[in-house]
Amino acid sequence: MDRTQKLINFDPEIAQAINQELNRIESTLNLIASENYASPAVMEASGSVMTNKYAEGYPKKRYYGGCQYVDVAEDLARDRVLKLFDLNPEQYHANVQPHSGAQANMAAFFALLEPGDTILGMDLAAGGHLTHGYKINFSGKFFKAASYGVDPVTERLNYDEILRLAQEHKPKLIIAGASAYSRVIDFKKFKEIADAVGALLMVDMAHIAGLVAAKVHPAPFEYADVVTSTTHKTLRGPRGGLIICKASLAQAIDKSVMPGTQGGPLMHHIAAKAVAFKEAQDASFTIYQQNIITNAAAMAEAFIRKGYRIVSGGTDNHLMVIDLRSKNISGKDAELALIKAGICLNKNCIPNDPAKPLITSGIRLGTPAITTRGFTPKEVAIVVDLIDRVLTDPQNDELLEKVKVEVDGLCKLFPVYTHNSFVTSTSSSLKSLEG
Ligand SMILES: *Cc1c(COP(=O)(O)O)cnc(C)c1O
Repeated sequence: MDRTQKLINFDPEIAQAINQELNRIESTLNLIASENYASPAVMEASGSVMTNKYAEGYPKKRYYGGCQYVDVAEDLARDRVLKLFDLNPEQYHANVQPHSGAQANMAAFFALLEPGDTILGMDLAAGGHLTHGYKINFSGKFFKAASYGVDPVTERLNYDEILRLAQEHKPKLIIAGASAYSRVIDFKKFKEIADAVGALLMVDMAHIAGLVAAKVHPAPFEYADVVTSTTHKTLRGPRGGLIICKASLAQAIDKSVMPGTQGGPLMHHIAAKAVAFKEAQDASFTIYQQNIITNAAAMAEAFIRKGYRIVSGGTDNHLMVIDLRSKNISGKDAELALIKAGICLNKNCIPNDPAKPLITSGIRLGTPAITTRGFTPKEVAIVVDLIDRVLTDPQNDELLEKVKVEVDGLCKLFPVYTHNSFVTSTSSSLKSLEG
């Protein structure tokens, strides 16, 4: 069955949009720190017939009949994710049903808290995520949200200050984790703070899950009561979320996902998560994560050599935020000029940003996607050069056109999907799903 051909015949508008999106992916340098490219095997599972099945409940405890094969997928996903993070299934429990990272956080909050309880999370403007207490998000509407930022001098987490805020606000839950923080997060220190004020600890490792799986970032599991994540960032799976908790919280978490905050699970995505967790157990995935870090370090150094200021002075992980004030360009204008040259990234607040959130003084860059493409520090140096040329003369359309030609050349040398640059071939990973 050639589904693509059918789509072209039946719905040429959508078929064309998909094809254009593929061309955009192939011809754009993607530095968005939260994005990656799922493998053909992952996409085959997520585009599969499992999209049809209603499977409210959990394996072998469903509200609908006919779940025997989707049960296989969900059992494999749960087992594999615990194995991926070296967790003993007698001590830890995984829920792979959250539709997204935000849904995982919502389910975790409602499992651990009552509406009106106090939470302490990282400020969105300092690099946190909106689900950690932002005032117009559910997390800030249903809960009393206090926040911590970064130290004004070091631009790193200041654990003494977080302890002071915890003592002041007495939260029931402390949330560690970020979307735009380039340094190692010390989960042990967070646990000490939580214990000092009698709070629970949740770690949201959405951005760094792949790094944690490959042991290039410390793991949160021995310290956190609940760990949430996305599956599509450094972990490089399908778009989705997951929750891992101590076994004692298994029932509360499962109930909070369904029926608490979701209905039927997306079984095709759960199958695809299982495929991704299998890919992530391959030795090549560890090397991939190490390369992400090597490339990010090389990128930060190259920018520093060209006179850019990196927030906190550099990076330990897959991303960095650059303060553009010395270059006299806003984050918004930088983003707009760079996309004309085929370079995709996002404007980002710097700590205590004097500019408005839709303007910003910074940009956030990450290396997960270009590393999937196969970039090494050599190509990273070229990318930094291209970005610098654009930011030095952002109104010069002729220059932007020239840079775009160079971007095209680089992209053609490192295709995403036309060569199989992924660890697991489609057929072998799906065979294992079929048992
Ligand atoms: C991306 C992210 C999320 C949300 O994930 P979605 O899948 O976009 O809902 C949650 N927490 C953190 C820290 C994130 O970076």
